[in-house]
Amino acid sequence: MSALFARHALLAEGWHRDVLLEWDARGDLTQVAPDASAPPGVARADYVLPGMINLHSHAFQRAFAGLTERAEGGSNRGPDSFWTWRDLMYRIANRITPEQMEAVAAQLYAECLRHGYTAVCEFHYVHRAPGGHVYGNPAETAQRIAQAAREAGIGVTLLPVMYAYAGFRDTPLRQDQERFRTDPAHVLRIVEALEPLRGPQLEVGAAPHSLRAVSAGQLRELVQGLPAGRPLHIHIAEQQLEVAQCVEATGMRPVDYLMHQADVDARWCFVHATHLSDGERDRIAASGAVAGLCPTTEANLGDGLFPLAPYIAAGGRFGIGSDSHVSQSPVEELRWLEYGQRLAQQRRNVAVRGGQRDVAAFLWQQALAGGAQAAGRRLGVLAQGRRADLLVLDSAHPNLDGVPADEVLGRFLFSGNDNLVRDVLAGGHWVVQGGRHKAQDAIAQRYKAAARTLHAH
Ligand SMILES: [Zn+2]
Repeated sequence: MSALFARHALLAEGWHRDVLLEWDARGDLTQVAPDASAPPGVARADYVLPGMINLHSHAFQRAFAGLTERAEGGSNRGPDSFWTWRDLMYRIANRITPEQMEAVAAQLYAECLRHGYTAVCEFHYVHRAPGGHVYGNPAETAQRIAQAAREAGIGVTLLPVMYAYAGFRDTPLRQDQERFRTDPAHVLRIVEALEPLRGPQLEVGAAPHSLRAVSAGQLRELVQGLPAGRPLHIHIAEQQLEVAQCVEATGMRPVDYLMHQADVDARWCFVHATHLSDGERDRIAASGAVAGLCPTTEANLGDGLFPLAPYIAAGGRFGIGSDSHVSQSPVEELRWLEYGQRLAQQRRNVAVRGGQRDVAAFLWQQALAGGAQAAGRRLGVLAQGRRADLLVLDSAHPNLDGVPADEVLGRFLFSGNDNLVRDVLAGGHWVVQGGRHKAQDAIAQRYKAAARTLHAH
């Protein structure tokens, strides 16, 4: 049995004093007792909060984050856009080897842990070898991701992606999309191959890539074939162009079309639910599905702004993801989620609901709940039976020194750029201590070698 005594811990209903946390060898919390006294010999911490869930990741994209920031458009090409970025992204996607994928993912996951993510949902679509042939093991690249998560010590929900078409009306894939080619049977074979890896730190779901990349029949087949209760994620409405194409091909907007094709419930995560009609926004909120918001990537790619305030008012659930990994910090994701709204609406303190007027606390707690649901794992709350995933903040930092507990999250999310996460417990293991990941140097060394080869051409 392992334990930690927190002078202040963020529980489901808010901060509590003198909380004794205990967990077992499996990494599950066995006791979370407020108003306890500190047993002798148990480690102490000042501010403890649940680790965040990163609900949307394409790990390999970490390798070129920051390398697509030169304007390449011109008068005859049109401005740079999501679609021109995607062409650049495909160059890496078509070159990366399974070994490089593992090295990049391990680096990313170690960085995520250091910044306060203790779980990740990996929306994994590079399944085939360069050129498009299937590896001897159909789950070759997915298992590399699982291995990277194990090495870094982060919990993971693997979401093998179905990707069959380049666009609506069964448009054939482009040459540079051949590594992604899958159909329902192929994805379900990968899911089956991953089943033995399921356990307290790993869950398996599936992801139709987007409405443009799968047919209605394939969508149904995948949903029916997936074991009951598993998470289902989809890119839903990231770009205006794909919304227009969806309307043109189906007569319906994306959310309306998906709800027409599938029973959308709490298993679903709508990633980039950016462009919604008011009706779609309220229907997502009513469905119990999670909106997967990735503010730094959505800003980087020029996607647009999610209608957060009316969605919150409608009772909608949401979580955050780092997606293309221009940031690996939940602080930056949540800060920009709120700041985007303030800029657009020219007002302050948008993300609140009912009696919860503390923006930072609302954002952190909501992103925990939405992220846990999207991950399909027992996460998001410091409570008995949940995973022992928690963060110890650096109470000696000038931003936190002497701060009352109910001001800690405001300081954490909305002041400065120092990383205030000091120690991280993931699945009952201390993976970050004193700001350092346990395998930081070895993981970084392997990443640098992989990145050098990947970028050499
Ligand atoms: Zn994505």
